[in-house]
Amino acid sequence: MSKIGFIGLGNMGGPMAANLVKAGHDVKGFDLVAENLATFSGAGGQAVGTVADAVQDAEIVISMLPAGKHVSAVYTGPVGVLENTPAGALLIDCSTIDVTTAREMAEKAAASGFDMLDAPVSGGIMGAQGATLTFMTGASDEAFARAEPVLAQMGKNIIHAGGPGNGQAAKVCNNMLLGISMIGVSEAFNLADKLGLDRQKLFDISSTASGQCWSLTTYCPVPGPVETSPANNDYKAGFSVAMMLKDLKLSQDAANSAGVDTPLGAHATQLYDAFESNGNGDVDFSGIIKYLRTL
Ligand code: NAD
Repeated sequence: MSKIGFIGLGNMGGPMAANLVKAGHDVKGFDLVAENLATFSGAGGQAVGTVADAVQDAEIVISMLPAGKHVSAVYTGPVGVLENTPAGALLIDCSTIDVTTAREMAEKAAASGFDMLDAPVSGGIMGAQGATLTFMTGASDEAFARAEPVLAQMGKNIIHAGGPGNGQAAKVCNNMLLGISMIGVSEAFNLADKLGLDRQKLFDISSTASGQCWSLTTYCPVPGPVETSPANNDYKAGFSVAMMLKDLKLSQDAANSAGVDTPLGAHATQLYDAFESNGNGDVDFSGIIKYLRTL
């Protein structure tokens, strides 16, 4: 059992922190939203009023925040994690943020004497609730070894992707590929419709041929072939357009700062941006197939 300070008790952080309480840890949680603190108390956690209160006797600090600027604000500064956490504690940021900020945070943590991991997740709210998340971590071997047992109480796949920032690098590369592949699969179905090729026939052929990919076989964007895909539930998210767009924009920030051309990633970002601007931020990202039909 460890003393854990948990910052950010939203859709993901709330259930993740509750799973740590369930596993027997002594968890103090902080969020800016009173309702999230109340839910955390209801799950048996100790809700506190500041970041400093959450971390002041922590052996492990975990954060689950919206973006890089929130992580930077929570960790640095006089009322932040680095100033108020006891020496030797392990710091784990599970937020999805830009690679540059993740590496800067790890450097600042190291300068203050802390080991810090970036450990973004995939698996969504269901994964957070069921403790079945995948964690992609960037950290030293020692920090990874320390973090793995506690991450395993919130997830089922814990992957060490390399040094600091590599967890975020893995997340943006994977999700850029996912955004592109969903558009590719959608275009194929839209073309098949116009050519008079039955959707189920295309699915049966491509799912066992060279066009096979997760966006087709697990998350098929047309209703019918895959029972559990959001297409069969009026494109209710799942993984929303807003979330996909956030990750695609992070991929483009990373590509720009690394000086790499990702033309399909850039185009996918534009397409999801346009779809979101039409009021579809809450729709599942596979709903992009409907937007492509309007072009
Ligand atoms: P959320 O908005 O529900 O939760 C974020 C929480 O952080 C909010 O409750 C907010 O009040 C809190 N917060 C913001 N600034 C704070 C501060 N200074 N101090 C304390 N609390 C603060 O978002 P979420 O869906 O839980 O996502 C969290 C992270 O996980 C994001 O980076 C997101 O990209 C990533 N993620 C989300 C999903 C998903 O399906 N929701 C899936 C994978 C990854």
